[in-house]
Amino acid sequence: MTATIKPGIPANEAERLRALAGYQLLDTPEEELYDAFARLAADACETSSAMVTLVDESRQWFKAHLGIETRETPREIAFCSHVVAEDRMLVVTDAGQDRRFNANPLVTGEPYIRFYAGAPLHTPEGYAIGTLCVVDREPRDLTDGQRGTLQALAAALMTALEARRSVLRVFDAAHIDLFTLEPRDRTIFFASSGACRRLGYSLKELVGMPVYDVLPALEESVFDEAVASVRGGKPLVREAVLRRRDGTTYPVELRVDAAEQGRGQRIAAVAIDQTERKAAQREIDLLMRSINATSDVVLIYRVEPITGMLRLSFMNDAYTHQTGYTREEVVGRDLDSFRLAMPDDEGMREIRAAIVDGRSAEAELISYRKDGSTFWNQIAFHPIFDGGRITHWVSIERDISDEVERTSALAEEHDRLLALAQAARRLFTVFDARQLVAVVKDVARELLGAEVRVLAARPSGASIEVDQLGGDVSIPETPDPDVAAALAKRGRIVGAGQTSAIIYAGQFGDGRYVLEVCAPGGRPLRNTDLFMLDLIAEYFAVAARNVALYHELDERRSAVLELSQTKSDLIAMLAHDFRGPLTSIVGYADLIPEVAKLEEEPLEYLDAIKRAALQLSELASDTLTFSRLERNEVALQLADVDLATLVAEIVEQYADRRDVEVKVSGDARVIGDEQRLRQVFANLIDNAIKYTPGDAKPSVVVDGDGSAVTVTLQDRGIGIPAAELSTIFDRFSRASNARKLNISGTGFGLFLAKQLVQLHGGTIAVESQEGNGSAFVVTIPRRVARASAPRTVVVLDAERDASFLAYGLREGGYRVRPAATIDELAAIADAESIDAVVVNIDPLSRDQAARLRAFAGKRGVPIVTVASENAARLGASATVPRPVLAGDVMAALERLR
Ligand code: ADP
Repeated sequence: MTATIKPGIPANEAERLRALAGYQLLDTPEEELYDAFARLAADACETSSAMVTLVDESRQWFKAHLGIETRETPREIAFCSHVVAEDRMLVVTDAGQDRRFNANPLVTGEPYIRFYAGAPLHTPEGYAIGTLCVVDREPRDLTDGQRGTLQALAAALMTALEARRSVLRVFDAAHIDLFTLEPRDRTIFFASSGACRRLGYSLKELVGMPVYDVLPALEESVFDEAVASVRGGKPLVREAVLRRRDGTTYPVELRVDAAEQGRGQRIAAVAIDQTERKAAQREIDLLMRSINATSDVVLIYRVEPITGMLRLSFMNDAYTHQTGYTREEVVGRDLDSFRLAMPDDEGMREIRAAIVDGRSAEAELISYRKDGSTFWNQIAFHPIFDGGRITHWVSIERDISDEVERTSALAEEHDRLLALAQAARRLFTVFDARQLVAVVKDVARELLGAEVRVLAARPSGASIEVDQLGGDVSIPETPDPDVAAALAKRGRIVGAGQTSAIIYAGQFGDGRYVLEVCAPGGRPLRNTDLFMLDLIAEYFAVAARNVALYHELDERRSAVLELSQTKSDLIAMLAHDFRGPLTSIVGYADLIPEVAKLEEEPLEYLDAIKRAALQLSELASDTLTFSRLERNEVALQLADVDLATLVAEIVEQYADRRDVEVKVSGDARVIGDEQRLRQVFANLIDNAIKYTPGDAKPSVVVDGDGSAVTVTLQDRGIGIPAAELSTIFDRFSRASNARKLNISGTGFGLFLAKQLVQLHGGTIAVESQEGNGSAFVVTIPRRVARASAPRTVVVLDAERDASFLAYGLREGGYRVRPAATIDELAAIADAESIDAVVVNIDPLSRDQAARLRAFAGKRGVPIVTVASENAARLGASATVPRPVLAGDVMAALERLR
């Protein structure tokens, strides 16, 4: 009877198979080492056959097979499968009698196994991957000694396998592929698993394959040479390509050497994949080509580990172009020893600081070429870190001399334009003939760096230097043809050698003027100099015209002022002298009825004479006041005045003409000039009566509150046409209805009233409807707030007194004190009281602005300035738009009152 017992499968089969693959033995050709182990086993156990078997997933495969032909059998019939399954030595003394094996085809057929003994091949991790076994066709047994020897041999074999596996592991981990080549037939004997993977073949496919199929570079002659040199003890190293299964190739470094084992015939080839290295190299080459192609200089310094010194380790070609130094001259030298051995400028200090701090820096500095010449070098200096430590510095540098030159030329141009604009401003605000000559010399010195002479000239070319325009100058009779030509052409004549020039500079009065300039330092005049000179001459001509016009204006103004002075003197004198005789007339007119008894009619005549004289007397007094006001001569005689009493007295005076109703509320006392205030209210009450036909009663309301007293005069008279209300307080202004009705008047009273009220710091206003009566409202503050003298302003102007602004303000009746600096302003303010500061400098320096602000704050003086940043910085009370006009400034000052 027969039975078949199948071998079991170990519990850790998957891991076991992986371990087996790791030895890279399956499907490799027979090798002497394993054959030797089989022979030792057979000899020791006195059997006819011995095998080194590996139990694969579904087969057992023989690495060595002594005494039998087969190289593999199915796993399920293999005796060794049982050893692997049970992981211990198995001895079958007679398989024909053993129920486990008696039906086994290996027992019933070839090789007719009767005796089997197998010791497991045990990996260090504990897997049984195969056996070292002995078999025989006869039943028999092993002595204990033989069993021990078989197990010892299995262990020794395992040690050899282990050594081989670790070598292969190391190679695989290092991506190094190992081939063993058979020189006899030039075939592949073995390929490591990495090599198989990379080439796309299985080991089985590769074994026995002609070497040239995968190593096309190892053509016959080379292969022979390699074999020869290896046998001579010299390994061969060369670059080669390996060909994959799909025909593609990859670069390797090939090292051919004697194989460690074998009959001294086989050789080992080690291939290191160069694909990545080649790619990296290509990238480096590309990088190097670009670095050398760029016009920027690239330098790399290595930091010496101990000294910390920076040594140049790389430079690109641009460095040679830029400085003339070759690689041989500079690479390897330290930073200070070649290129930076020069005094440190600011840029170099920045770079040294960056090196100390270990940070990037950018700097512009002067660098030297090999020949000693210099250039502007823009440097970006960056540290390179490796593992937290700076190992290198990269310096990227560019010659920016051209740019520097361009920007400085631009800056120069900009400065020049600015200087020109300032020159124009300075020249155009000069109104003085002597000052103009000084200013043009100044301007020329600034713009040209040259001395200019101003010459008064005759058409003949005779000339003499002057220090002012106009006036009597005697010009000697020595003609200069250049001067004559400049005058005739009204243009410029450049002297021989271009070191001097004469240029026409306009006319002033009867005189003609030229400017003479000598090139600075004797160098020839350049085009830009001449261009400047043209402009200066043109500005000078305009300024000369300004000066002439200003003089003319000034003369006319003086004449007009003189005339007006004479007129007002005359009027004042007349008005004053009138009052004496008029008082006599009134006095005598009053006396006559006392000394002579008169009839009704002559009495009426006398009364008419008296009224006319009184009216004349009032007119004279108004005229006198007016002329005093005009000359700013009215000074208030301040005293306590009760406006209620004052109004009552006036109303009393007019009682014979009209009844006037008076209402008083509150305290009506003010500090003011009684006589002037009487003049104001008398005039208003007189008007209220005069312009109210019939006997309708006007009314006066006197109302005092905390800070002022308001007097309202209301009448039911003819009123004032709406269109004329706005001009009714003007000098000599009379309403059309009053004139039409033939009501006598001079149009003087309201003008005077307004002036006098304003002198008291008060206001006067009117509301009226034609035919419906008028209301005049006068408000007088309890105290006169400000001195009413003309106001004093300090004009802060770099040109001091030369501006139109000062002129305009003076014309407007202001007392103008010029100052160029805050110190000057303070000195003025110490000497007299000032009412405002007008700032005509923009922008004011930060420092001056701060000082002015402090000054104004301390003294409580308001500031008027141009609307700009300045205004905010100064804390200005009022601003005016550009250009600064006297009218705007006065309006602003007026608003400050
Ligand atoms: P006068 O009375 O001498 O003409 P004023 O300066 O006092 O001069 O007044 C100017 C003008 O104002 C007068 O001519 C008149 O037209 C107008 N006016 C002044 N007061 C009144 C009033 N109460 N009612 C109507 N018109 C008046």
